[in-house]
Amino acid sequence: MDIVLFGMQGSGKGTQGKILAEMYGLKVFDMGAELRGMIESGTELGVKIKDIVERGDLVDDDTIMEVIENFLKSISSDQSVVFDGIPRTMNQAEKLLSLLKSHGRKVFGLHVKISEKEAISRLTQRRVCSNCKEVYPAFYKNDDCAKCHGALITRQDDSNLDAITKRLENYQRETESVIQHFYGVDRLIEVDGEQPIPDVTEEMVDKAGYLFS
Ligand SMILES: [Zn+2]
Repeated sequence: MDIVLFGMQGSGKGTQGKILAEMYGLKVFDMGAELRGMIESGTELGVKIKDIVERGDLVDDDTIMEVIENFLKSISSDQSVVFDGIPRTMNQAEKLLSLLKSHGRKVFGLHVKISEKEAISRLTQRRVCSNCKEVYPAFYKNDDCAKCHGALITRQDDSNLDAITKRLENYQRETESVIQHFYGVDRLIEVDGEQPIPDVTEEMVDKAGYLFS
């Protein structure tokens, strides 16, 4: 059973996705990391993506599906996957669902739900390491990076309320209909992302654990 993660920026969906993956032996497909990896790979597809990115264009949905198809061919058919960062739009959702179906794979949505107010509060309090760029959430209280001891600073774009609000509006406009689609076909698990992290995990395991046992 594959999982696609949904949640506003700041929801902690990536963290929860990794925890779920570790617990049940799932593989994480992180769209951003995968595209960066493709570019570094220097393969034909990697070069194509590099050209698109260097032109300053967004990677189109068909190319994204090629990346995912490649990934699916590289794993065994009974290896479950957590998809993070895809699908963001209804068009991507339709293409991804039909691709997964053609590989005989089944998928559930996992929505780590937080309010826009909470997302804004978390994003404006987020800090980043000035050295290695690791991002730290509001609840991380030290002033230096746990990895390299670099100084933590508030990210310029994150402290810009307009930019944050715009990103969240984009998310709601584009992704909300995808979430509704998964809800409508009874394939959506929702957890309350405003609880402490261990409680989010507990709710997630309660509601989704049976999919992998
Ligand atoms: Zn650092």
